[in-house]
Amino acid sequence: MGAIIKRVLFALVALALVLWLMPSPEPVPPVREDRMALGTLVTIKLYGDENKIRPLFAGAYAEFERVDSLMSRYRTDGDVARIESAELGRVVACSPELLQVLQRSLYWARESAGAFDPTIGALTRLWDFPDVEVAPDSASIVAALAQVGYRALHIEDGGARLGRAGIHLDLGAAAKGFAVDRAVAYLQAAGAEAGLIEAGGDIRYWGEKPDGSVWRFGVQHPRNPQKYFEVEDIGIVAIATSGDYEQYFEQDGMRYHHILDPASGWPAVGTISATIWAQTAMDADILATAVFVLGPERGLELAEQWPEVEALIFTEGTDGLQSRATSGIQSRFRFVE
Ligand code: ADP
Ligand code: MG
Repeated sequence: MGAIIKRVLFALVALALVLWLMPSPEPVPPVREDRMALGTLVTIKLYGDENKIRPLFAGAYAEFERVDSLMSRYRTDGDVARIESAELGRVVACSPELLQVLQRSLYWARESAGAFDPTIGALTRLWDFPDVEVAPDSASIVAALAQVGYRALHIEDGGARLGRAGIHLDLGAAAKGFAVDRAVAYLQAAGAEAGLIEAGGDIRYWGEKPDGSVWRFGVQHPRNPQKYFEVEDIGIVAIATSGDYEQYFEQDGMRYHHILDPASGWPAVGTISATIWAQTAMDADILATAVFVLGPERGLELAEQWPEVEALIFTEGTDGLQSRATSGIQSRFRFVE
């Protein structure tokens, strides 16, 4: 299947699988637009006077395009490519926003002991989701792993520097969240008083709905797209989910998915989905990947360290789906058919 068709298909599946605002009828419905951006479906819902808010959508979607062109690993002419191809040890000046994302990525790479690693590019290129149909051989995985290591990425003097040859950056687990944060900032500055953005599993909302109703969210059941669990608003504005059902293939009865464990080079085992609540969509996005890779024990331990981070993890045991959550989210969610 063509790569583009496949990407669109994945995005459509994502549409069915991602987090949803509960479909309960709202007395004052939002004004809504859905568009493809960053390779996924991006839904923006704004509350208020339609004439005033309708013109704001274009600017919000423009933020997604802008962040995409700054962070994409597919671009050969951007800052990311310049950092990767620079002479070893040279500091490459780059955009303040890319530096911000790299800096935050490094912070979480350290905190997660490398479970999240922004230098994982050589490995993700080798696996090549979503086009891959057969797992790479072990020797290639070992070779790619030798080119992964966040300790070789340094931020200094307004730029980035790589300390080792062959490193490729991959901001795929952070850029979408960052784009959501930028689009929300744009909308708030433009006067949108309340709304919600949902981009392929990353959500951020702000403000009070005009009818005074509470925000409620649904998280997809990781094994049954007809089911979701409903989560109460716990007052934390960003929510992101990473799941093994987003991009995967099956080979010899095994499921191979796109969230890779930098310790082994293979898809992370032990988790089937991880949902994170955090103060920014970028943190939630990064942490969903980090906690997914760390697994239920170490992942929840990491999330418990921050009062404004919560985590909900699903694992698959011999007796079916099991959920584990941090203290702040426990008993604040339930399954709905
Ligand atoms: P999605 O973007 O599908 O919602 P994630 O936010 O979890 O899911 O991001 C997954 C993407 O992040 C992968 O497609 C890959 O580009 C990159 N990635 C995979 N494993 C890791 C990892 N351990 N650390 C950092 N980035 C990763
Ligand atoms: Mg993520």
